[in-house]
Amino acid sequence: MKRSTNHWISRALFVAFIFASMTSTAFSSSFALEQNVEDLKARANASAIHESDLPSNVFAAEMIRPLLSELIERSVTFRRQCSKVRNAPLLHIAIELVPSLAYDHCLAVSLVTRYAYGRIDIRMLITVPRAPSSYAEIIGHEFEHALEQIEGLDLRTLASTSGSCVYRHADGSFETKRAHEAGLAVAREFELFRNSSHGAGAANSADGQK
Ligand SMILES: [Zn+2]
Repeated sequence: MKRSTNHWISRALFVAFIFASMTSTAFSSSFALEQNVEDLKARANASAIHESDLPSNVFAAEMIRPLLSELIERSVTFRRQCSKVRNAPLLHIAIELVPSLAYDHCLAVSLVTRYAYGRIDIRMLITVPRAPSSYAEIIGHEFEHALEQIEGLDLRTLASTSGSCVYRHADGSFETKRAHEAGLAVAREFELFRNSSHGAGAANSADGQK
């Protein structure tokens, strides 16, 4: 969950994860499950040869796809995030643009559903409209949370562990320092690329980021 203050959205950014568990009874067919996993792996492998493309297990609203392409081009941090997402065939990310969220001062929220057989569905809801750099920060931030889910971080336990840099809010949502920093890094790289492309030696700078 990403929240804004009364000042500017680059302050006090929060992302929440709401966990929902599915029972294994919902997946009684092991054969179908294996087929599904193999299909997902095949899709992930097929997309691996196109590092400049959005991972095939990320589905985004048409309106935001050009920005995601720009992020891949400009931000090495986002490319690394996409690479890890691409190599996680049981992860499914859907990015949706919404006019508002039910959470106070939130700019974005990631809703996570973990299934018994390992699949992870994440709905990233992002409020609109935003400046491109703000989208960059939000998306970089949320993708880092997706990586936390791939890694299987136990945010509940970490939130009660001193020095973990994981925090839980009163509404049950979680925030991590690493997601905050990743969002800032993606936004910074996005802006630096744009600035360098307008100055002398733009081509060299651009190449250096790819
Ligand atoms: Zn967060």
